[in-house]
Amino acid sequence: MDSNDFILGGYAKAPESIDHFSINSSYDLFIGGRWVKATQQFKTTNPANDQVIAEVGLAGKKEVNQAIKAARKAYESVWSKMPAADRGKYLFRIARLLQERARQFAVVESLDGGKPIRESRDVDVPLAAAHFFYHAGWADKLSYAFPGAKPKPIGVIGQIIPWNFPLLMAAWKIAPALACGNTVVLKPAETTPLSALMLAQLIEDADLPPGVVNIVTGAGETGQALVEHPGIDKIAFTGSTEVGKHIRKAIAGSGKRYTLELGGKAANIIFEDAPINEAVEGIINGIFFNQGHVCCAGSRLFVQESIADQVLRKLKKRIGTLIVGDPLDKNTDIGAINSREQLDRIKSLVKIGKEEGAQLWQSDQRIPRKGNWFKPTLFTQCAQSHRIVQEEVFGPVLAIQTFRTPKEAIAKANNTPYGLSGGVWTDKGSKAFQMTSSLNAGVVWANTFNKFDPVSPFGGMQESGIGREGGLQGLRAYCNLEL
Ligand code: NAP
Ligand code: MG
Repeated sequence: MDSNDFILGGYAKAPESIDHFSINSSYDLFIGGRWVKATQQFKTTNPANDQVIAEVGLAGKKEVNQAIKAARKAYESVWSKMPAADRGKYLFRIARLLQERARQFAVVESLDGGKPIRESRDVDVPLAAAHFFYHAGWADKLSYAFPGAKPKPIGVIGQIIPWNFPLLMAAWKIAPALACGNTVVLKPAETTPLSALMLAQLIEDADLPPGVVNIVTGAGETGQALVEHPGIDKIAFTGSTEVGKHIRKAIAGSGKRYTLELGGKAANIIFEDAPINEAVEGIINGIFFNQGHVCCAGSRLFVQESIADQVLRKLKKRIGTLIVGDPLDKNTDIGAINSREQLDRIKSLVKIGKEEGAQLWQSDQRIPRKGNWFKPTLFTQCAQSHRIVQEEVFGPVLAIQTFRTPKEAIAKANNTPYGLSGGVWTDKGSKAFQMTSSLNAGVVWANTFNKFDPVSPFGGMQESGIGREGGLQGLRAYCNLEL
């Protein structure tokens, strides 16, 4: 072995192979069960090396209209009329095919989005399959989910998803919609369209009736065309608070239903009685998982003053061991930042953090020269008013503050316009319950972080959104309940 056989961090290279399947050089739009050529195309790149992976169709108003018409036809003629148990069978089939093709989905997710293969393989793909399995089970049992009511589908759903969990967000959106008898038009993010297109291929192979699922790739304008189209009955959006507000204004008065899963600035709170080593792992998982490209990332750390030095020391030591680099290498902990634009945003907020007086610390590990990378970063000496404390960085950047009493921790943690998630680390059950009920957040983890399950509803309060995905609440959002 020479030095080239080692990845940054000193381990021998352990790359996932990419020769077990092929990626097309060009993809069309998936509309009405057919592959439809768009008038224009755009390129999707690998953020780890800036190389173009494929060209994909750029759906304009015309193609969006075509997709919505196909979805309406499928809704009226087939899907809403089909016995619910048969809908369930299709969803089970999609779930099983996803499991069969898990390796290729994991590779594509890491290639197109930059996330470490360990995460796409062990988190994104299995959870996406789990969402299809979970909702497949509900398809013919909806009247038991809502006793006394007759659940009816809503109609045609427009679905828009971000780039941080492309396949998983597609599963979160498509599975419950279909289980309840709706048809969908889904738009993935511009920088990560490939896994949704591969899901379209899978759906074609699963013989789903044409038009039940339509995938239109494109940029923000494609999403806007979907939102503004009179032919949709509901918009399900996951993305930034800024675009979420825009969507809410755009559909005001239209009668369209909506759910909005938006940004976050979660507080991860560590008490002096917490198991410190586990809490340090929880902090690492909370903010460095998926390069911090996580809406519910634990991006604000609150440590009880008495253990602050100890936690900071252990945290720095642990960060020093993290491997930043090739997303396809199984040793990699932190992959590539999803796009140049996002990298610039992270850099600009970090610069502002320093200018505002917070103290920056970065580990000394090397990062690759080519591609989009950002070192795990800590800020201490933070004030509540600092922009790195108030704004979503959406990168591997942690703002650290201390507190003395639970009351102070709650006041500081709740000083945010967001309200998506939070975490509490303590040995004491009663303290955990006190904190979880006092934090303004849709999800609060105790002695763990970033855990997801299709059974458990996920969603935000305040500027983090409206509505829930997953569990009964998520199912409810895709039904009209007739009493
Ligand atoms: P974004 O800029 O809001 O984009 C989200 C999606 O909306 C993308 O598909 C985007 O297309 C599209 N879009 C952009 N402008 C639009 C418009 N005017 N009308 C309709 N659609 C439009 O968010 P992002 O940067 O991709 O994702 C990061 C954000 O998502 C973060 O704020 C994160 O917290 C949030 N997020 C929230 C959750 C949750 O469950 N609460 C989960 C994951 C992510 P293009 O990408 O092609 O521009
Ligand atoms: Mg890409």
